[in-house]
Amino acid sequence: VLKVHELRKAFGTARVLNGLSFQMRQGEVISLVGSSGSGKSTALRCINFLETPSSGEIEVMGDAISASQNERHETKIVNATNIRVFRRRIGMVFQSFNLWPHRTVLENVTEALIYVLRKGKREADETALSALSKVGMANFGHRYPSQLSGGQQQRVAIARVLAMQPKLMLFDEPTSALDPELVGEVLKVVRTLADEGATILLVTHEMRFAREVSNRMIFLHKGIVEQDARPEELFRNPASEAVKRFLSSVI
Ligand code: ATP
Ligand code: MG
Repeated sequence: VLKVHELRKAFGTARVLNGLSFQMRQGEVISLVGSSGSGKSTALRCINFLETPSSGEIEVMGDAISASQNERHETKIVNATNIRVFRRRIGMVFQSFNLWPHRTVLENVTEALIYVLRKGKREADETALSALSKVGMANFGHRYPSQLSGGQQQRVAIARVLAMQPKLMLFDEPTSALDPELVGEVLKVVRTLADEGATILLVTHEMRFAREVSNRMIFLHKGIVEQDARPEELFRNPASEAVKRFLSSVI
């Protein structure tokens, strides 16, 4: 479903991604872990083209977009017309839920269905309700985000992504803005999606959860893949001192 090849990203002189490569098959759940500043969020943002990679190639469902740089460090994108199609295949859930405050829960979920997918209102409502019931929020359609707990808001944000039926879901620390007692309900939703066969790339500091839910874990260090292994393997046999240090700091 996803191929990332030699992805590089620099902000000025700060080289954040230094040739990131990995692949994901359909139905796989991969956790992207690593210390703060290792480039996890930047990687997700580049995969979604929220950020333009400096160079490298990203392939989603067989369609590739590549970026390359000339000697003056200007980036050239090949296949730029596909970016919208591309994005439509990818759903992203952020740490901060980013719901529209002046729209109800239902409207938050139907918005893109109506304006991007051009669904009629009734069909959009049905799709939205079914996504909301998946995350246990079907009874909250008429509330406003400010009337919900953080965990509930995040579940609505997940429903909003789900309703678009993405081929690939990206989660960037979906629980790190939540009070501890609300983390579980959001992780439970992620686990349900994983069990149902969704393809998920998850950035998280919840190592125990990552270990349980992931088919593979990718450890990012200084913008490069330091280890890409099944969770048991990563924990049993860390590939480097950096991985070992990280694991001992979070367990
Ligand atoms: P965390 O675990 O803290 O979320 P991360 O692995 O997600 O960290 P990134 O957010 O990808 O790390 O950031 C990696 C590096 O890139 C950091 O040093 C950060 O300061 C830098 N960076 C990220 N976005 C930008 C930007 N828009 N402009 C300049 N530097 C940036
Ligand atoms: Mg981050």
